[in-house]
Amino acid sequence: MALVVIALTAIVSVRPLVSGRKDMLRVGRDDHALHQLLDMRAALADWQLFMEPEIATLSTTATVVDPLLIAKGAEIERGIVTGTAIVAKSLRQEGFAEDAKAVTAASATFTKSLADVATLVRGQPLAVIASTVAAERGAFTAARTVTATAATHLRVSSQADADRSISGLDNGRTAVLVADVLAAILAVGASWVLGRRLHGRERVSRINGKRRSYETTLQQALDMAKTESDAYNVMTRALKESVPDLDVEMLVADSSGAHFHQTLATATQAEDGTPCGCEVVSPADCPATTRGHTLVFPSSQALNACPHLKDRPSGDLSAACVAISITGRSSGVVHAMGPDGQPPTADDVSYLEVTSRRASDRIAMLRAFERSETQARTDPLTGLWNRRSFENRVHELQHEGTPFAIAYGDLDHFKVLNDTHGHEAGDQALRLFARVLRDSVRPNDITARYGGEEFVIVLPDCPMASAVKLLERLRERLALTLSSGRVPPFTVSFGLSSSADGDTIDEVVAIADQALLTAKSSGRNRTVLASEAAVAVPPVVA
Ligand code: GH3
Ligand code: MG
Ligand code: MG
Repeated sequence: MALVVIALTAIVSVRPLVSGRKDMLRVGRDDHALHQLLDMRAALADWQLFMEPEIATLSTTATVVDPLLIAKGAEIERGIVTGTAIVAKSLRQEGFAEDAKAVTAASATFTKSLADVATLVRGQPLAVIASTVAAERGAFTAARTVTATAATHLRVSSQADADRSISGLDNGRTAVLVADVLAAILAVGASWVLGRRLHGRERVSRINGKRRSYETTLQQALDMAKTESDAYNVMTRALKESVPDLDVEMLVADSSGAHFHQTLATATQAEDGTPCGCEVVSPADCPATTRGHTLVFPSSQALNACPHLKDRPSGDLSAACVAISITGRSSGVVHAMGPDGQPPTADDVSYLEVTSRRASDRIAMLRAFERSETQARTDPLTGLWNRRSFENRVHELQHEGTPFAIAYGDLDHFKVLNDTHGHEAGDQALRLFARVLRDSVRPNDITARYGGEEFVIVLPDCPMASAVKLLERLRERLALTLSSGRVPPFTVSFGLSSSADGDTIDEVVAIADQALLTAKSSGRNRTVLASEAAVAVPPVVA
């Protein structure tokens, strides 16, 4: 568009300028011819000044003209002849052929009359002299008249050319002015557009900068979150800051993947006290979670609104639901609520998404870390602690100065069970025993698989008598559990020692092991205290 306008204004302005320039040149040439003509008329005037008075006396006195004067007259005459040729040529060039002819003819007549006058020097009768002088005067006057007419013609032509030139230049100037105005408008327009773009870019870069800074701060906070709960707290604060006008909650699938539980909420209830939040209970029922991407609902009244938005106690609303994926699985939703008809803006959604993504990445990492820690800590078959973590825990207790009892258990005749019912039945028996073990102890007690079919229980701050009672209850529970018959029956023997019995873990465990040996040798299915290794607790019938 701009190029078209520039081209048009160039065409419009160039034509009058070109014709104006031509007229100006013609004016210049007219002037040149006019000057030559004026020079010629000056030469004629010279003749009149210098020669005419002398020649005039000839007609009355018939005296001889001074030769010096004749010489001067000859010089002026040559000037007139040369001037005539130049003037005639110029007049023809400028289109004044008639004037050229008239000037040439008048000049020739005048020159001839001068030649006639020259003969008078040699002496002539007075009558001849008078008629020659009269002829010279007539030729002179004719030459002056013709050159005056030609000069008038040239002046008129020059004036016309000058007028046309001025008008052409005026038109050109007007066109240039118009072009200038258009160019100025274009320049202003272009600078406005560029300015707007620049302003737009600045705005985008400011927004991006703000978001980058937000993401950096959020990431730094999340990096310091050591548990999922820490991560949800960080997320709650971040959402309150980044989308302060929205009520946001996060629903995450539980370990079964079948149920949602709320992990955070920036507002537990609306200002009027009405509880807010989505009532969806299962990930399978949440459109955003099942589709795995963000959904924005401008109005809960819309035909295509999420069914869970309708008929909320808090009334009609708009919402943005951001799907959460933890370790690549769609695991939940961040649900942001706004006024009906005013859904969260693109900027809001962007903050919701970035917050959700960063937080879910951190949660996935914490879960993976937790999983690997658990794997390193536990025995894969039974889920109990392994020998290494048991030893670490006992070291901690020793370091803290906490007294503890250690029960060393070994399943009785387990080889026979394996041989009779198979290795899989043996594994089932080990898992069942581990469950009974876990169910029989206090939360702070530690149950570990020491190796094969051998187990240890660490009982912090537990008097020996209480430890014995616990082990007896455990054996009873085992017998009871086995009575269902799903796993072949077996029993367990325990040796029991106290932290006070040895200086190191190995010593304390070894002492418990000694007591266990006594239990085995005393008939199995019993508990033996290290301090009373000879005293066997009565067996339980499986
Ligand atoms: P005792 O009453 O004297 O302890 O006799 P026992 O047969 O239990 O003793 P022994 O040490 O001879 O046998 C232990 C058996 O435990 C041998 C092995 O097959 C079985 N066992 C060890 N670890 C596992 C396991 O992970 N799975 C299964 N199924 N069996 C195991
Ligand atoms: Mg054994
Ligand atoms: Mg055994």
